[in-house]
Amino acid sequence: MIIVMSPAATQKEIDTVVARVTGAGLRVHLSEGKSRTIIGLIGEKKLMAQLPLEAMAGVEKAISVTAGYKLVSREIKSEDTVINIGGVLVGGTNLVVMAGPCAVESREQLLESAKIVKAAGAQFLRGGAYKPRTSPYSFQGLEEKGLEMLAEAREVTGLKVVTEVVDIQSVSVVSAYADVLQIGARNMQNFQLLKAVGKSGMPVLLKRGMAATINEWLHAAEYILSEGNFNVMFCERGIRTFEDYTRNTLDLSAAAALKDLSHLPVIVDPSHGTGVWKLVRPMAKAAVAGGADGLMIEVHPNPAEALSDGSQSLTPANFQALMNEVGIIAAAVGRKMA
Ligand code: PEP
Ligand code: MN
Repeated sequence: MIIVMSPAATQKEIDTVVARVTGAGLRVHLSEGKSRTIIGLIGEKKLMAQLPLEAMAGVEKAISVTAGYKLVSREIKSEDTVINIGGVLVGGTNLVVMAGPCAVESREQLLESAKIVKAAGAQFLRGGAYKPRTSPYSFQGLEEKGLEMLAEAREVTGLKVVTEVVDIQSVSVVSAYADVLQIGARNMQNFQLLKAVGKSGMPVLLKRGMAATINEWLHAAEYILSEGNFNVMFCERGIRTFEDYTRNTLDLSAAAALKDLSHLPVIVDPSHGTGVWKLVRPMAKAAVAGGADGLMIEVHPNPAEALSDGSQSLTPANFQALMNEVGIIAAAVGRKMA
């Protein structure tokens, strides 16, 4: 059983609920999130059933958990979650675009990218300052210097910043600069990291692990929500299949399934999903037509010179063309591009 306290619950109300359940012989697991507190109950079901939990002040819901996840599911919240990220709304009828280079390479490269994606109508600037690379000899990212550049680009353009956090140690420094913490595919089941970003209270973009099932992905998101952080977006970025023409197989059926199973927003990343720049535009349109709440697109001022993922990055002109075409699809399916 979990007790979801209302965001407006006072400390006294939380203490009263805890005292009542511990007094009844149960143990509690308390997650004091930035926006709300979740109280997990441990002990005999019989004892839980006797308590009038939903009648207690400050309690929003008391939910019996039979599956391994609950907070992410539509069963407990039928309406779409809309996340307010510094005034930009993600979810509901909005369609957002997160775009920028794979990696922050230099101040000039990043500022130029930011101006390009802003001019074409994106709301978020993406770019990795910490890069989880397959080879230790590949470019690993500019780390905190890269974060400073992202913050400067936000200052100049007004774009919100989404960037990856690769380990627990860097959660606080990335949170100081970014608007959204990205959990990369390679970390989707790094449960300690999921708990840490849950505790941070920051909006989180949770990418799908390259061999993760939808069920495992939902459980990963539950880790973040169970810490009291409900500001989570899923990001479908392709999975490993037998097909090797494309870098990954973009699983748009997973995006549609998540929209059905969960109230959280779903973003689609056709750049990593295909690995081939020519395929990004058609897949972006398909994602929006299929109900995605947003797109993540890699854009580079000069893809041929990119330090990572150049072959899937769009030129400024191709990104502009994508935005024009996506705009038509968005209007046709009743989505507002902010
Ligand atoms: C990225 O967004 O650049 C990235 C590393 O993505 P993924 O974790 O999906 O591979
Ligand atoms: Mn990349």
